[in-house]
Amino acid sequence: MPSANLDLIRAINQFNILNSIRARKSVSRSEIADMTGQSRASVTTITAQMIDKGLIFEKNVEVTGERGRNRVLLALNPDAAFVVGVKLAAAKASSAVCDMQGETRSTVIRNENFMGKGVDFIARYIDELIMAAVDEAGLKLENISGIGIGVPGVVDFQTGTCHWSPIYDAGSVPLRDRIQNRFNIKTYIENDANTLTLAHQWFGEGRGVDNFIVISIEYGVGMGIITNGQLYRGVRGFAGEMGHVPVTPDGELCVCGKRGCLATVVGGMAFINKAKRLAETGLWVRKSSGDIEFEEVINAAKEGENALIEIFQAAGHCLGVGLSVVINIFNPEKIIISGQGVEAGDIMFTPMREAVNRHTFSDLLALTKIVIPEWQHTDWAKGAASLVLQELYKSPFNTIRPLI
Ligand SMILES: [Zn+2]
Repeated sequence: MPSANLDLIRAINQFNILNSIRARKSVSRSEIADMTGQSRASVTTITAQMIDKGLIFEKNVEVTGERGRNRVLLALNPDAAFVVGVKLAAAKASSAVCDMQGETRSTVIRNENFMGKGVDFIARYIDELIMAAVDEAGLKLENISGIGIGVPGVVDFQTGTCHWSPIYDAGSVPLRDRIQNRFNIKTYIENDANTLTLAHQWFGEGRGVDNFIVISIEYGVGMGIITNGQLYRGVRGFAGEMGHVPVTPDGELCVCGKRGCLATVVGGMAFINKAKRLAETGLWVRKSSGDIEFEEVINAAKEGENALIEIFQAAGHCLGVGLSVVINIFNPEKIIISGQGVEAGDIMFTPMREAVNRHTFSDLLALTKIVIPEWQHTDWAKGAASLVLQELYKSPFNTIRPLI
C-alpha cells in the first residue's frame, strides 16, 4: 500500500479515537475499540502515542461495589490545545479562549459600531480582541493553536474570503489571511451562523443529532444546517441565508436589494427600524435618548409597550412561516433557536409556534423538536473557537464524519 494511503488510514484512526473520547468524556480502550471498529491492538498503539503527545491521559476509576478493582479510562487533556474565537456583530464584538474540551477559559465583550468603519478598522479590532482574550486567559500567543472568526454575511470558508457582510462594505476581502499573517497562527473564517452550528454539534444541543438546524436571530436572521452529521455549506458556502427568504411579497426593502425578506420583519435591524418609526410618530415614548438599540426594544416590549409587542408578534408569525418551510424541506430532528432574539421570549415565540403548527405538514412536525436554549452573547465567540477545534480534531483530512 502506498505510504500516503497508510498516512490517511492512520489519520482517520487517530481522529476516530480522539473523537470517541471527546464524545464520552472518559472511556476505556475496549469501549473505544467497540465504538470505532478498530482492533484493541490498534487502539492500544495509537492511544499510547496520544498519551506521549499529551493529548489524552489515563485516569483510574474505582468500580462501584468491586472494592480494590480499578478501571483505567482515557480522557482528553483540556490543556492539550488552546484556540481563540472572535465574533463580530453590528454593534458588538466578542472573543474567547477555549481549551481542547471546548470549555471557555476567557471571554471579552465590547460594544462597537462597525457600520461604515471599513475592513482595515475591523482587522485591527480583531487583533486587539485576540490579544485581550489571550491575556485574560493568562496565556501567550505561542500557546494558541488556531484562530476562528465568525462574521455575519456571505463567507467562503475555503478561500477565507468574505464576499458580502451587512457590517462592512468589503467586496471580496481576504480577512482570514490578514489575521493569519499578522499572528502567524492558522486562522479560519466562517459565516457566524455556521460557527454557532458547529458549537452546538460538538458541545451543545446538537450533540449526537445527525440532522438539525440552527436559527440565529441577531441583527439579521442566520441559519446553519447539519445533514447526516455534516455542515451543509452549498456550492460556495452561501447556504442558509434564512434572512432573505421572502415572507411578505410586497414588503419592505431589504439590505440585499429585494423586498419582503424575513430580515425586514425579524432581527435587530427590523426591530430597530420599526421601533424608530413608532418613536418618531409618538406611538412609543422612549425612556432614554440616543440611538435605539436591540436590547432597548426587547426590554420595552417585555415591559408591556403594546406597539412594540405587535412588532414581535408579527415577527414571530413570519418566523414560524419560515420555519415551516425549513421543516417541510429538511425534515430535521431538531431546530435550535439562538442569538440575542431569544431574549424576546414568549411574545415572539408563542406566535412562532402557532404559525409552525398551522403551516407544517403534521407528520413532519411530529418528528421535529424546536428548542430555545438560554442565550449568552459569548456563545458566539465559543462558536468561532469550535470552528478551530473541529479542524484540530479532524487532522488534515476533512472528509471524515464526526462520530457523535
Ligand atoms: Zn434580503
